[in-house]
Amino acid sequence: MITEHHMMVKDLDFQYDKDNHALQGISFQVRKGERIAILGPNGAGKSTLLHILAGLRIPTRGRVEVGGVDVGGRRKAGYVPGVGILFQDPDDQLIMPTVEEDVAFGPLNLGLERETVNDRVAEALRITGMEEFRNRIPFHLSFGEKKRVAMAGVLAMKPEILLLDEPTANLDPAGRRKLIDFLKTLKCTIILATHDITSAIELTDRALIIKGSLLAQGNFHELFRSPGILKSAGLELPDIPLLFTSLAELGLWKGTIPLRRSEALEVFKNNETRKEIQNIKKDE
Ligand code: ADP
Repeated sequence: MITEHHMMVKDLDFQYDKDNHALQGISFQVRKGERIAILGPNGAGKSTLLHILAGLRIPTRGRVEVGGVDVGGRRKAGYVPGVGILFQDPDDQLIMPTVEEDVAFGPLNLGLERETVNDRVAEALRITGMEEFRNRIPFHLSFGEKKRVAMAGVLAMKPEILLLDEPTANLDPAGRRKLIDFLKTLKCTIILATHDITSAIELTDRALIIKGSLLAQGNFHELFRSPGILKSAGLELPDIPLLFTSLAELGLWKGTIPLRRSEALEVFKNNETRKEIQNIKKDE
């Protein structure tokens, strides 16, 4: 089926039981190759939403289409072909006795030939920096190492849609940087669930803010104009936009709020800004 959107969610409701209404009235669309963030505090329903998009839970109400599959209309839950999900907790993902077998598990299940699987495993372990761990027992690895093996397993499937649940949580700074830089090179559709706006800005183009229901959606410039919504979703602005919004409040900055360090650096490299700073120095 050819669809313009890669993912379409309309009036999605999900209840775990009658007292636990995890998601209400969620609607959004994602185009092929787009990267979006799902932002919200703990318990906002981010993981639940990703599980629904992966086909692992059936919506209570509403339409959900993922990669041309009518997930909402299914009777039985099960992975949607072409969709890879990295769970928040790698222990939910790692099942095989060695790292190598774990990474090979998904591609083998796709019915790929052994040689292709071996190539994919080697590539995924190289990308995640886990080559030296190939014969280790996943259960004995550190949290960050487990997370990287789980990521390798997902990447080895070469998904068209990648669902990431807090992929950088508990990674050390070098591991986090490596993962983000790698994810930026991917061409697939990415949905990143996180409460860390810094990662979201680095990796995605726009965001949905959810807390059971959808509070807002848009690009980051638009979202940062509503500090009240961020606050009610328990989210904090990262340092760079926070600094510039504070300067704007003091009347010291009138331009667009930079989101990333590179954009802030451009501001300071800009001649006009330099002149203004020199003028301030002269006045002093
Ligand atoms: P987030 O990923 O944003 O932290 P979750 O999707 O994990 O949020 O949880 C949303 C709500 O659903 C929470 O109130 C949580 O307690 C509840 N919940 C999550 N998983 C289950 C489950 N398996 N059974 C019952 N309730 C659940």
